[in-house]
Amino acid sequence: MAEVGGRLAKQDIYERDKRHVWHAFAPHSEQNPWVVDAADGVYVTDLEGRRYLDAMSGLWCVNAGYGHERLARAAYEQMRRMPYYPLSAAHTPAALLADRLCQWLGGDYRIFFNNSGSEANETAFKLARQYHAQTGQPGRYKVISRYRAYHGSTLGALAATGQQQRKYLYEPLAPGFLHIPAPDLYRRPDGMDPLAYGRSCAEQLEQVIVWEGPETVAAFILEPIITGGGVIVPPPNYLDEVAAVCRRYGVLLIVDEVICGFGRTGKNFAFQHNAVQPDIVTMAKGITSAYVPLSATAVRQDLYDAFKDPADPYGYFRQVNTFGGHPVSCAVALENLALMEELELVPRAARMGDVLAGELDRLYRHPNVGDVRVRGLLAGVELVQDRDTKAPLAADPVKRVIAACKARGLIVGRNGDTVAGFNNVITLAPPLIVQEPELAFIAQTLDEALEEVLGGR
Ligand code: PMP
Repeated sequence: MAEVGGRLAKQDIYERDKRHVWHAFAPHSEQNPWVVDAADGVYVTDLEGRRYLDAMSGLWCVNAGYGHERLARAAYEQMRRMPYYPLSAAHTPAALLADRLCQWLGGDYRIFFNNSGSEANETAFKLARQYHAQTGQPGRYKVISRYRAYHGSTLGALAATGQQQRKYLYEPLAPGFLHIPAPDLYRRPDGMDPLAYGRSCAEQLEQVIVWEGPETVAAFILEPIITGGGVIVPPPNYLDEVAAVCRRYGVLLIVDEVICGFGRTGKNFAFQHNAVQPDIVTMAKGITSAYVPLSATAVRQDLYDAFKDPADPYGYFRQVNTFGGHPVSCAVALENLALMEELELVPRAARMGDVLAGELDRLYRHPNVGDVRVRGLLAGVELVQDRDTKAPLAADPVKRVIAACKARGLIVGRNGDTVAGFNNVITLAPPLIVQEPELAFIAQTLDEALEEVLGGR
């Protein structure tokens, strides 16, 4: 360990990285990589000693912020007491965490633990299919999701994903996945009432279920707010409406809370902005504030009953993940949730979200800013060529805005789908401990970066 960032010359680290590390979702580069070396609060520091406000919480995941000593201690203590045992048996941190998650969910759930968001969704799809098979409807295997959504990198979760740029080189993916359009309030038909629009989008789901044959449809999966596709906030009634459609046709409702969960939108989980109780909830990232990997698939307790039949020797869920529900991860998650409760980070995210929305309002002075969407501490700034056509701004100027932010010490994200031409949303998801002056800095820096790149257009 002493070598890391210590005795090794910086150039040595750059060279080793450039020779051997395959970077995630990034083109090849001969440039020195950007090496993040330390982090504290809402700031990260690179190997050159430059400090940045991380307005993306890593990958939308360090919800409680960096540098909490007590999370490190929880990991250390659990490692010393019992570093590993699989969940085919049981261990205390998993039992305590499952119970705590039900409190956060506000319902009675059975929790299956995994390692990543992708795996949590894979588990959800398998459980949905097995549930139907064990309740007399083995023909229900199809999973419906939405274009623009991201649900993970593995072949099933990627099949559910609705962004072609991530998929087309890896096909064929898992069969049995269908997509419907996601609501896009910003581009809804002119003058249409948002609630009527929400209803009409839910009717699209209903039509697809009817045309496919409800007896073939296992589940519908959605994020309450599409995050990686560009922070697309749906009409307020949309989730209630699609939940009603699912119920009407016996289709399980899977809510992907991988990003939206754990306070990001100002509620414990984003589905709690509506009056729905999902059949399955998948979660990851903020569950441990990303200090260690962990994910979970929460299934309504009455659905679990289908997995209890003592007369069926194969009626249990036949999946094990070696590291799923790792005791160290569960211990850290418990401490993370305790910390979030003590600091009241969830209601704080709702309050600070209002502050962020107020700060970001100034961006509308730029003609290329088409739409600013904020829900809690989750925000998207959609850049367009002009406001009348709403045509997305090209990827290059969007990238330059992001680089201009970085040059000023601010990390923001960029999301969408290049194949469909929608890679034009700058995303924000700062740690929930962010302070008001830091939110002002985010807005001011974005304002300056937009001025620098697009000012003369
Ligand atoms: N679902 C959503 C909504 C996500 O944003 C992500 C990852 N960003 C995933 C699933 C997959 O999670 P992971 O990268 O941990 O596999």
